[in-house]
Amino acid sequence: MRNLAGLAAAALALGCLGLPLPAEAATQTVVTIQFDDGNADAYQALSMLSTHGMHATFYVNTGFIGDSTHMSWTQLQDLYTAGNELAGHTLTHQNIKKLKTADARYQVCQDRDNLISHGFQPESFAYPFGSFDSGSEAVVQACGYNSGRGVSGVNDTRVFAETIPPADPYALRTPPDPKQGTTVATIEGYVTAAEQHGGGWVQLTFHHVCSGCDAYSITGANFQALLDWLQPRAASGTVVQTTAQVIGGPFNPPVTP
Ligand SMILES: [Zn+2]
Repeated sequence: MRNLAGLAAAALALGCLGLPLPAEAATQTVVTIQFDDGNADAYQALSMLSTHGMHATFYVNTGFIGDSTHMSWTQLQDLYTAGNELAGHTLTHQNIKKLKTADARYQVCQDRDNLISHGFQPESFAYPFGSFDSGSEAVVQACGYNSGRGVSGVNDTRVFAETIPPADPYALRTPPDPKQGTTVATIEGYVTAAEQHGGGWVQLTFHHVCSGCDAYSITGANFQALLDWLQPRAASGTVVQTTAQVIGGPFNPPVTP
């Protein structure tokens, strides 16, 4: 009894002194803002990112660039000139897990070569539909990419963030893609969950910027609100970087499909 009482007294004393209780891992939290598919309406993110001093990663399908519903090559150049990352997402948004290797390789390598021939330095890739297996990973690596991103694997119950560096850079894990009904508070929760569980990498993947034009959309006002919330967190260590900044590594030369 005396020992227990003594322990309780010691714990109370420590608490009163404000000494740290069991150490928390002090890893930084890094947020990457990503846009998939090169949708025309996502171009309006550029000005909002710029006014917040942030850069995003845009994963585009070069087979669709310049058509009526996607961004133009000039708009991609605008994004790139402003410091955003241009990245690959296959030529025509194919589920490469279901393709024969030669066809998957064409979809991934030719898309990357198109980006390179337009003056970009694509280092990052995202799997359409988040669908991949070990064969898909091998294709993405062989085409010269430094990473491949899925659409799941981070949740608020067990895995609170991707690790830095990731365990498998060709199987990057993310929280659920924000949808039309996803609140800003829910998205912010993905970031604070990481901050509160040792830090790590939180990739926020968007598709459309509009009011209800697509199931996977965020309004301009909500995107603005998210950036307004994120910006001051840099002072306490939560920063926004592109995928390539987090992954690092060289820009690899183009590979013949
Ligand atoms: Zn996509």
